[in-house]
Amino acid sequence: MNWLYKFLLSAVENNMCTKCHCTTCGASEFRATLLTKLKIYNKIPNITKISKTNNNNRFISPVFKDLEKEIQSNIIDEICIELKKLTEDQLSHLEEKRRVYPVLRCLFVEFEDYADHVYSLLVGTSSGIYLKKMIEHSKSRSI
Ligand SMILES: [Zn+2]
Repeated sequence: MNWLYKFLLSAVENNMCTKCHCTTCGASEFRATLLTKLKIYNKIPNITKISKTNNNNRFISPVFKDLEKEIQSNIIDEICIELKKLTEDQLSHLEEKRRVYPVLRCLFVEFEDYADHVYSLLVGTSSGIYLKKMIEHSKSRSI
């Protein structure tokens, strides 16, 4: 089983907030912990200085948007390799577990500045279909 699926499932089961623009916590536990699962995490410059945990001993910093462009691009590549492995059954299971503020939606919102690039890497996969629906939905709203 791929680590991304395991992480997304555990985020839901451990009641991590996945409300993308949460005014209370900014979903920072979810966003920061996701990065710690990556191979590239330890290669982020000054990671020991910028890494922070909260009272529950969960990571809350850094988050993707605070990182340099080059690191961001490597993160996208690594995450997309895992996203491609997610099956339709796994996606539906995650959606069933949390219907309000779904966990995968929160993940894609984190990378929304790169949505077109991410989509180009995921075309033809289950998570690609999921992302496409999100992009179409947001376009229809902004018109
Ligand atoms: Zn929150």
